[in-house]
Amino acid sequence: MRLTAPFAVLALAASTVLATVPSAYAAPAAPAPAAAPATDGATPPMPSGRTDYRTLADYQSDMDRLAERHPNLVKKVTLPHRTTEGRPVTGIEVTRDAHRADGKPVLMITGMHHGNEWASGEVTMEFAFDLLKNHGRDKTITRLLDRVRVLFVPVVNVDGFVLNTRRTATNTDMNRNYGFGWSPSEPFPGTGPWSEPESRNVRDAISSRQVTTFLTMHTCLANILYPPLQLKAGLPQDIDAFRAFAGALGNQNGYYHTTSAEDYETAGEAIDWSYYATRGLGVTVEVCTNPPTGLPRTWQTLVPEQYWGIDAVRGKGNRGAFLVALRQAADRAQHSVITGEAPKGAVLTVTKGFDMWTNPIPQSDGTSRPVSFAQRLTSTMRSDGGRFTWHVNPSIRPEPPYQADGVHGDRAGRFLRESWTLTCARPDGKVLQTVKVTVDRGESKRVNLNQCRKLWHRH
Ligand SMILES: [Zn+2]
Repeated sequence: MRLTAPFAVLALAASTVLATVPSAYAAPAAPAPAAAPATDGATPPMPSGRTDYRTLADYQSDMDRLAERHPNLVKKVTLPHRTTEGRPVTGIEVTRDAHRADGKPVLMITGMHHGNEWASGEVTMEFAFDLLKNHGRDKTITRLLDRVRVLFVPVVNVDGFVLNTRRTATNTDMNRNYGFGWSPSEPFPGTGPWSEPESRNVRDAISSRQVTTFLTMHTCLANILYPPLQLKAGLPQDIDAFRAFAGALGNQNGYYHTTSAEDYETAGEAIDWSYYATRGLGVTVEVCTNPPTGLPRTWQTLVPEQYWGIDAVRGKGNRGAFLVALRQAADRAQHSVITGEAPKGAVLTVTKGFDMWTNPIPQSDGTSRPVSFAQRLTSTMRSDGGRFTWHVNPSIRPEPPYQADGVHGDRAGRFLRESWTLTCARPDGKVLQTVKVTVDRGESKRVNLNQCRKLWHRH
């Protein structure tokens, strides 16, 4: 649920109306995902075999167990910041050869920005079980895990989950704390942009990887949301791609899709920052019974039935939506590719840095103006020798609505022609060559690293 208690009644009414809006979902471009197991009409058991909600200890032991069982397919991850109450925030990366610093595109799936939205963590964790169970058995899943790295962080707001509250231990709504477009007039936004370790964790996880596709799971509206968060911010430049992607997700889980602003207006959410920082497509998925009102909300109706799908989407559900996201992440037409030849063992890094802005914030001198923060994207891969293929987000960035002089709504077709700075370095960090790469969505660029290859063999 994206709402605070005082607005709950209003939201219930709004979502009842919106749920009846027909939507012409775009058909998914790729072949149908691997079918759910046949169970003669009954909802199948969850991939993990669980029959109730997890505790925090359950999440941790499940991730540990998967890493032990599948050492080549699972890499354990701890995000850089402990929570306010000192807890670690952990996840797993799932892919073939998980411990290699390869150049695969990354799909990130997070649960529980809101600590009381339990089903959002459950479906996230179950999809990890599902992939690992089917790798090597199911052709589609095996092929996709050969091409995509999936980062699962089922509980990003750990303190909130332990306290069973929407907000963090500082009483902040972490999904109003992202710095881009941050506004103090939102309910519980934190003391400033990025004031919370929990939002900084998601920022740093995305900023240090090539997250080309991002799903942030919530409950409980049965919809799919993408930028903008505010009507005055205007539509994102990649609105057609957002609609096609969200439509393909909706074909699976049966949820309608719309801009977050048209659902209701907010500021400082994960999806808005991630798109305007990286151009990777990020959407909020509100897992719920469909329609979201009138049906009981139990583990059975929110977890297995929404995971596997019932009625019109039986055999699809959010599992099908996750598989669509996996295919979206694998599709090179949806991101960018850098190729070249580098010496075996060379460390390749791409970086770019720029400033981003909040909404106008009232200042002590009585004026109101946006505040900037520095944004840096840095990710690394290691060359196996010979030709490398690196799946990255485009270097060309959408011009953001939140700028130094306020909010700009009409930016259709406006992009900033930025470049990645790519370095080829020895493992000790000595940079042998630096090149600029300008690459757009769907493009592939080859870089010439002859200088790095020549210097590599000199001592
Ligand atoms: Zn939520």
